[in-house]
Amino acid sequence: MRVGIGYDVHRLVENRKLILGGIEIPYHLGLLGHSDADVLTHAIVDAILGAAALGDIGTHFPDTDDRYAGMDSLVFLHNTLLKVKACGYQIENIDSTIIAQRPKLAPYISQMREKVAKTLDIAVAQINVKATTAEELGVVGEGKAIVAHAVVCLSPL
Ligand code: MG
Repeated sequence: MRVGIGYDVHRLVENRKLILGGIEIPYHLGLLGHSDADVLTHAIVDAILGAAALGDIGTHFPDTDDRYAGMDSLVFLHNTLLKVKACGYQIENIDSTIIAQRPKLAPYISQMREKVAKTLDIAVAQINVKATTAEELGVVGEGKAIVAHAVVCLSPL
């Protein structure tokens, strides 16, 4: 068994879509980034790469590369699966937490799990997504950013 951890944060700004776990969530602000800035998917990608000792998302999908401008982060996620498979690993399970003061994410959790599971070719029962607020503390609590954490367990294919 191999374990990996992932963390990401993106700033909330106007005139951007809010994409979390590949799901577009209705909100007046969205996450700023070179790709679609899907903070949950980025944390999961980093956790998977970490478990396989394959570096990080910035190494594989650099934000200086114009090919990735506005990119659907699910493409990164699927490419990451192919990389760890090539190393002889499969995903056992993923746990994750999104920290967002607003909007309420509970209505979208099951859609996120289904989307991530489909992209990684795993069962919905292998991916957990939790959401919490920051109790109005710090930049996340002020609604200026969203954070995501993920932990992944890999096993030999
Ligand atoms: Mg990111």
